[in-house]
Amino acid sequence: MHEMSLMGGVFEVIEQTLAQHDIKRVLQVKLKVGELTNAEPDALNMAFEAYSKDTRCEGAELIVERVPVRGRCRTCHGEFALATMIFLCPMCQSSAIDVIQGEELLLESLEVE
Ligand SMILES: [Zn+2]
Repeated sequence: MHEMSLMGGVFEVIEQTLAQHDIKRVLQVKLKVGELTNAEPDALNMAFEAYSKDTRCEGAELIVERVPVRGRCRTCHGEFALATMIFLCPMCQSSAIDVIQGEELLLESLEVE
């Protein structure tokens, strides 16, 4: 499952964070998930439960914030939201587009005890 490997990366970051602080328990985990990751919320929840079992994250609430895809045109340098997989600049129709947002799966914040 794709979400398991994404969540594995998130838990590496969580563990690094927990290792640096004296934390009893994690209450809430907030993630930013780009639309281009194609991560399903249900599958993310399942992956989260699997990884958090028997850790300080067990029972924590998972909050997933969806991040829309945005691109920047290399020709006219405009920035815009990208709809699905059509990567064309709406201003100048160039296809030289850099994705600047939407590929990430990031740990946004941890609420701890
Ligand atoms: Zn353009």
